[in-house]
Amino acid sequence: MSNVFVSNHPLIIHKLTRLRDKATEPKKFRELVREIAGLLAYEATADLPIRPCQVETPLGIASGGELQEKVGLVPILRAGLGMVEGIWEFLPGAEVWHIGLYRDEKTLKPVEYYNKLPVEPTVSVCLILDPMLATGGSAVATVDILKRWGVKRIKFVGLIGAPEGITALQNAHPDVPIHLAAVDDHLNERGYIVPGLGDAGDRQFGTG
Ligand code: URA
Repeated sequence: MSNVFVSNHPLIIHKLTRLRDKATEPKKFRELVREIAGLLAYEATADLPIRPCQVETPLGIASGGELQEKVGLVPILRAGLGMVEGIWEFLPGAEVWHIGLYRDEKTLKPVEYYNKLPVEPTVSVCLILDPMLATGGSAVATVDILKRWGVKRIKFVGLIGAPEGITALQNAHPDVPIHLAAVDDHLNERGYIVPGLGDAGDRQFGTG
């Protein structure tokens, strides 16, 4: 699991525990998704290249750096939406490109229904956002889409992963680092992560 990064940050552990609780209502759930996503992205962006630069302070010239690469946030609809704002706070210059995939209930395979990417890539590094890395089908399909688009570096940022989903993503795209708050036990027969947190979309949007 060399390219799998599971955070052991105390803030993430604490917030993920509150998130999993079935008593956590949608408003608090959305707040926690946003906060954990921001913390995970902070870790996931630790290796972004910096271009040295200088800035004039009120007292003189300071050496500093600025982000060299244009970053894209790619939430997978609909559950990934709630992760955007927490990361955008740190990366206000990021572009947000939505990908709509739903999981066919019978085959559990992803079906694309929304993709408005322009012909030429406009970003060089993308963070794919999806709270649950379950079967891995949506993550693999989204990496396929972004690679076809021409994105050079892709990372996956999720909240909880199942071993099955991690293996599927690693096998299909070994070059894509996976950043998670936790790895859970297994998938159930309906493709839900156990113990997980339930349906991340329903719990954010109050539709469960
Ligand atoms: N999607 C979810 O929202 N939850 C799971 O456990 C698996 C997929």
